Amino acid sequence: MTHQVIFTIVFLLTIGIFGYTASKIAAYFRLTRPFPIGDIPKRIGIMLKVAIGQTKIFRFPLVGLAHALVFWGFMIVAFGSIEMVIDGLFGVDKSLAFLGWFYDFMMASGDIFGLLVGVSIIAFLVRRLAMHIHRFKGIEMKKISKIDANLALLAILFLMVSLLGMNTYYLVLHPNNAEGVYPVSRLLMGWFVDVHHVNFASANFWFHFYWWAHIVTIFVFANALPYSKHFHVFMSVPNVFLSRLQPLGKLDNMESVTREIKLMLDPQAAAPTADTEEEIERFGVKDIQDITWKNYLDSLSCTECGRCTSVCPANITGKLLSPRKIIMDTRARMKEIGPLLVQQGKDYDDGRALIRDYITEEELWACTTCNACAQECPININHPTLIVDMRRYLFMEESAAPGELNSMFTNIENNGAPWQFPPEDRLKWATEVDLEVPVMAELQASGRKPEYLVWIGSSGAFDDRYKKVSREFVKILNHLGIDYGLLGEEETDTADSARRAGNEMLYQMQTFQIIETFKMYEVEKIITCCPHDYNTFKNEYPDFGGNYQVWHHSQFLQKLISEGTLKPGSDKFASRKITFHDPCYLGRGNGEYEAPRRVIESVAGTPAEMQRNRSFALCCGAGGGQMFKEAEKGNKEVFIERIEDAIEIQADIVVTACPFCMVMMTDGIKYKNKEETMQNLDIAELVSQSLGL
Ligand code: SF4
Ligand code: SF4
Repeated sequence: MTHQVIFTIVFLLTIGIFGYTASKIAAYFRLTRPFPIGDIPKRIGIMLKVAIGQTKIFRFPLVGLAHALVFWGFMIVAFGSIEMVIDGLFGVDKSLAFLGWFYDFMMASGDIFGLLVGVSIIAFLVRRLAMHIHRFKGIEMKKISKIDANLALLAILFLMVSLLGMNTYYLVLHPNNAEGVYPVSRLLMGWFVDVHHVNFASANFWFHFYWWAHIVTIFVFANALPYSKHFHVFMSVPNVFLSRLQPLGKLDNMESVTREIKLMLDPQAAAPTADTEEEIERFGVKDIQDITWKNYLDSLSCTECGRCTSVCPANITGKLLSPRKIIMDTRARMKEIGPLLVQQGKDYDDGRALIRDYITEEELWACTTCNACAQECPININHPTLIVDMRRYLFMEESAAPGELNSMFTNIENNGAPWQFPPEDRLKWATEVDLEVPVMAELQASGRKPEYLVWIGSSGAFDDRYKKVSREFVKILNHLGIDYGLLGEEETDTADSARRAGNEMLYQMQTFQIIETFKMYEVEKIITCCPHDYNTFKNEYPDFGGNYQVWHHSQFLQKLISEGTLKPGSDKFASRKITFHDPCYLGRGNGEYEAPRRVIESVAGTPAEMQRNRSFALCCGAGGGQMFKEAEKGNKEVFIERIEDAIEIQADIVVTACPFCMVMMTDGIKYKNKEETMQNLDIAELVSQSLGL
C-alpha cells in the first residue's frame, strides 16, 4: 500500500510537471503561422517508412543500425514501462501477463533490446568522447550541447542497466514461475548471481531497487527531455508524420504575392474579399513570429546529429553556413523571446531578431538550395525552405540582397534574361550556325501545333558553352523527326534563380507571363535541358494554374531509347571512363537518378560512379542564385571539391545534364589543369556525338 501511495504521488507529480511544460510549449506554438497538413494516408506511409522503419538512418549502415536499435528498443521497452505504471498505480504485479504469448514476446524482445540498446549507447559514448567525429563539431555545438548529449546517453544506459537488473532479480525471485520470458536476464543471472547463496530479502531489495531506479529515471528523463536536444525522443515520430510532402525541389508559393500580382494584372477580378483577405505583417521570415508551427516543431525535434551539416557543400568548403545551426538557432530564439511574447503579446519587440542576432546574412546567402541537408535529415527537417523564407524577408522587405543578385534581378526585369542580352538574340545560338529550328509563332501562322515545346532557357540561349548543347539537342530531335517548336524571341527567363534568391515578386511576374504564352500556343508537353526550369514547370507552375507534361532532356532521350526510336551507341567512347554528375534539381529535387545513367549506358556502357553519387551527390555550387554571385568566404570553391571527386576516380569524361553544372564542372577542370585529360560533356552532346551528328 505504501508503495502504491508513493508511486501515485510520484506519477502525478511527473504528469503535472510534464503538463505544465507542455502547456508552455503549446503557447509558443500559438505564436507561429499556420502550416497545412492534409493527405493523412500519405503521411502514415512516410511515418512507417522513415520514422518506424528508420530508412534514412540506414543511409550510413553501420552507425544507422546502432541508432535504429536504440529507437526500436525504446518502442519495445515502452511496453514494459506502461505495465510498470499500471502495476504501480494499482498495487499489482505483472498486470499485462494476461496477454499470453504476446506478453512473452514483448518481454523477451524488451530484454534483448535492453542489451542491444545498452551496447549501442556505450559505442555512441566512445565515439563521442574518444573519437574525433567531424559532424559532432561546429560553431553551434557549444559545450552545453555536448554535455547534454552525453548526459542523455548516460541516462539511457542507466535505464537499460536498471531494466536488466530488475528482470534478473525478478527471475531470482521467481525461478520456476516467472511471468514472461527474459533470455538475456536469465543468462545474466547464471553469470553474475549466485542464486544458491542470495537470500530472498536481498533479492527482493535489489529487484525493488532496480524497479524504482528504472521508473524514476523514466519520469525524470521525460521531464528533462523538453529542455534537452533529446526532446526528439518524443518529437521525431510526429515530426516525420508532419513532413513536407512536396518534392524537395519545390518551393512553397507565397499567396500574398500572387494576390498582389493578380491585383496588378486585373484589379477587378482579384480584388480581395473578406474570405481571402488576411493580414500580412511582413514578407518572408525575419523572426520567430514569421515561422510556421512546423518550423518550430522541426527545431524541437532536431537531434543535433549534424548529418545535414556534414553533407552541406557550403559547410564542407569552409563557409559559415551550417544547416544544423539554422535549426538550433530557431529553437534558441524561441526560447529567448517566446516567454516574453506570451506575457507581453505578439507585438512585443526586444530589439533582437532571428536574422542577424542569430543567423547572419552571410550564412543565408551561402546556400545553394541543393537539398542535401533535407535529403539527409533522419526526421525530414527541410532547411532550404526556411533559408529561402529568410532570403525573401531580406530582399522583399529590406532590399538587402548581394549586389550581383540585384543585377541579375534587374536584367530579368528589363530583358527577360539574367545577363544583358536582348530578347531578339534568343535564337542566335541556332541562326549563327544556320541551324534550322521550328519557331512556335511561325508554326501557328501556318496552322500547325507541334506536339512538344522545347524550352531552351537563358543559358541555352546565351551561354557560349551551353549554346552548343542546345544545338546538339535539337539536332537529335531533327534527326529523329520529333514534332517540336521553340518560343525563340518570345521565351523569357523563368526567374527560378531569382525565386531562390528571395525575389518572389519577379518570379511570379515571369511565371504569369510565361503561362500566358503557353496558353496562347496551347502548350501541353514541354522538354527542357535545364533541371531548374524542369523543376519549376513540373512542380511549381501547377500552383499558378499551369499544368503540363514535363521532361528533362535526359528523360526524353531515355524515353526515345526505350521506345526504340533512338539507337545511339558507337565505339567512339569505348576506351573512355565516363562518370555522371547528378544535378541537384534533377536528382534530389525530383528523384531522377536513372534516366541519365540509362542514356549513358546505351551510348558507352555503365558509367563509373564518383564516391558521392545519386542522392549523395555533391552540388556543383551554382544553385540557389550562386551562379550569379561570388561565393561567400570559405577555404575552397564548391566546384573544386566536386571536380576532385571525378579526378579521384580518374574519369576521362564528366557528363552533366544542367547548364549551371556545366559551367562549374568546366571551371573545375580548368582550375585543376585537367583540360588535356578530362572533358565535360552534356548528355545531349554524348548522344549526338555517338550518332555522328
Ligand atoms: S540546401 Fe545545400 S547548401 Fe543549403 S544548407 Fe542545405 S546542404 Fe547546405
Ligand atoms: S536538422 Fe536533421 S540532420 Fe540536421 S542536426 Fe537536426 S536532426 Fe540532424
